[in-house]
Amino acid sequence: MNDEELTKQHLNDINKIARSIKREATLMEICGGHTNIIMKYGIREILPKNIRLISGPGCPVCVSSQKDIDCMIELAMQGVPVATYGDMMRVPGSNYSLEDARAKGCKVFEVYSAEEVLKLRKDYPHIVFFGIGFETTAPMTTFLLENNICVYSVHKLVVPAIKAMLGGEIKIDGFINPGHVSTIIGEKAYADIKVAQAITGFSAERILRGIRALLELIKDDKKSVVNAYPEAVHYEGNIIAQKLLNNHFKISDSEWRGLGVIPNSGLEVRKDDLNAKIKYKNILSKVPEPKKTACRCGEVLKGLIEPTECPLYRKACTPENPKGACMVSEEGSCSISYKYGR
Ligand code: SF4
Repeated sequence: MNDEELTKQHLNDINKIARSIKREATLMEICGGHTNIIMKYGIREILPKNIRLISGPGCPVCVSSQKDIDCMIELAMQGVPVATYGDMMRVPGSNYSLEDARAKGCKVFEVYSAEEVLKLRKDYPHIVFFGIGFETTAPMTTFLLENNICVYSVHKLVVPAIKAMLGGEIKIDGFINPGHVSTIIGEKAYADIKVAQAITGFSAERILRGIRALLELIKDDKKSVVNAYPEAVHYEGNIIAQKLLNNHFKISDSEWRGLGVIPNSGLEVRKDDLNAKIKYKNILSKVPEPKKTACRCGEVLKGLIEPTECPLYRKACTPENPKGACMVSEEGSCSISYKYGR
């Protein structure tokens, strides 16, 4: 069967299974890549009425806390050269963004690969890399740590976030687990989470495949994980990447935008001399706690509101003039909603 035929079959199956569930079920995807596909193809709208699909904290730029962004901006303002990936440049801090800091003459560099940071070190030996993202991007940061580049890590772990969402304000019947992260951590990482979960990939057919598998679990009241992306995800995951993460990072509590501090949900640099939070603690300790703003990214990330329910959406907040992280990143719910007009 080709993708189109498979997609039709999944939809037929989803409708049949949803009828047999005989109640409302709420599913959450926790990967910005999945959110993009779901919104692009209008997947929420074609699901049966009793199946609600909401977005969770799956965008790495969006979940990085305001305080961490303020800290990186302060480092740059105090003359420390800093480098990070594209989207992070435009995320508003309490006063301005890293891009604004660069416009003020600070040494802020937008990079697309770890190798670029190594090249920058030739001219800026004390450059600090802002390491963001989940288990997918963290192995690339270990390459920099192996090369003795100082890192400010806000890398996050997916499993503690799923567990935190389970105990949150919304009853979630099942999770669509992220495909890319799962290639690293493997199916086994989700085994002790007591809720229905399906790992899946990045096409409309694969998303529907994952939803169908998830609904099967919910129908049978099974609180376990199914791998609906076996072509890329293995039970054990990527052992080499896991070893690299373990060698260079230790698991620590981490602050997430909207979700607060989640225990054991972050990756902190093991070596003190390569950990920017320790090396520059004199500067960072003076950064004040961020003030509350009108941006409702925190509620968007928890699935409590849709981007359209934020009063700033499409008015004061647009991709050209973002007021929050969720409107900056290509994986942010507000930006995706804006792009596809939903
Ligand atoms: Fe924040 Fe803008 Fe999204 Fe509102 S629309 S939640 S201000 S990013």
